[in-house]
Amino acid sequence: MSMPATAEEVERAREARVGPMVANAWRSPFFRARLVEAGAREGQAVDQKTWRRIRPTTKDELRGLSAERFASEVTIARDDEIAMYWRSGGVTGRPLFYPKARRDMPALVESFTRVLRLAGVRPGELVHNSFPFLGVHPIGHMFGHALSAHGCGNVFAGSGANTPSDVQVELLMGLRPSVWMGIGSYINILGHRAEAAGHEPSSSSLRRIISSAEPLTPAKRARIERMWGGAELFDSYGMTECSMMGAECERHDGLHVWADLFLVEIVDEGTGEPLPAGEVGAVLVTPLHAGSAIPFLRWSSGDIGALEPDCECPYAMFPKLRLAARTVGFSKVRGVNVNHNDLEDALLRVDAVADYLARVVTAELDDRLLVDIEVERPGPEPGAVAARVRAAISAAFELKADVTVLERGTIARRLDGEVKPMRVRDER
Ligand SMILES: [Zn+2]
Repeated sequence: MSMPATAEEVERAREARVGPMVANAWRSPFFRARLVEAGAREGQAVDQKTWRRIRPTTKDELRGLSAERFASEVTIARDDEIAMYWRSGGVTGRPLFYPKARRDMPALVESFTRVLRLAGVRPGELVHNSFPFLGVHPIGHMFGHALSAHGCGNVFAGSGANTPSDVQVELLMGLRPSVWMGIGSYINILGHRAEAAGHEPSSSSLRRIISSAEPLTPAKRARIERMWGGAELFDSYGMTECSMMGAECERHDGLHVWADLFLVEIVDEGTGEPLPAGEVGAVLVTPLHAGSAIPFLRWSSGDIGALEPDCECPYAMFPKLRLAARTVGFSKVRGVNVNHNDLEDALLRVDAVADYLARVVTAELDDRLLVDIEVERPGPEPGAVAARVRAAISAAFELKADVTVLERGTIARRLDGEVKPMRVRDER
């Protein structure tokens, strides 16, 4: 599997795969029903009008199926065709486990390898890989395959639940990798742990940081890059139903999506009608090379974004996806909508805040927003920082928060065992 060189090649590669993908979908009773409902005929090409009538599939629909029905009606691969299982979700709602077919492995590895290319990682570089690889999570070991394919060394540490953070810090400082990859907020934790152990993360060997699987607000990006001495942060985008799907180029202005491997549609959230380039809507995805085990047709990703065709970079053959926000990550607190990303951004904009954990709880029949913070040392007086945090939250959401200052390192220790540490939580 190779990378197409022009937009025409991307389109040709995509067009060639839609037919085989639809043929796979006819073999799955679950997706077959959607094709019939849309008026498609087995053995015939699906025209655009019919395609747009295919009802998108949501995670809640799959969660509603029993394990037996999922295996017999959604999955089409025989046991001996399955290379591995990937876990999806579990932070909110019941996790799902998707089989991936051996036949699809070259495309799956390619989809991860392209992230390395766009981030400018060269063969021969040493990469510290902090993506989780236990617990049936695919991202750590798939990046492991990609690093091997790209000719890079892999310090296969895994998440903090796989290798304790203090050990990860010693590996980062001792082996001097030039690239770190993992969930972005975890490099923040490692930075705090490094400082606590007497290291200076700002003078580390890291040159590039690759993040995935969590929204990066502008303030979070700036914070991470500053802490690690100006290492360049690249975001990437994927979902377990598909694979790794795209990444930032050096312009950091949206995510180039592998449009030869995935059919990406932007549709109106209300009507389901397709939207023109540049307009924001719901992101639907059909994997074209990764559906031999489960032929996801028009998967409703839960993401909101716009597709843009151009970029001033060598990867302009892949359109750019500009994500607006995940549709999850909202809490209603005393009638006020609080977007978790906006809350994190407000907290990170207070410079002296070294770490934070915000929780929405119910106390005495009322909603309360509890915010624990840690303050940079040496730095301003903790009480003054807490007052600034209260003022920032009040300005952003017109909400009163209960702010508590904790000892440095408390929050990182509290979240250390979590695969995907969440710093804003709704605990009601
Ligand atoms: Zn670009």
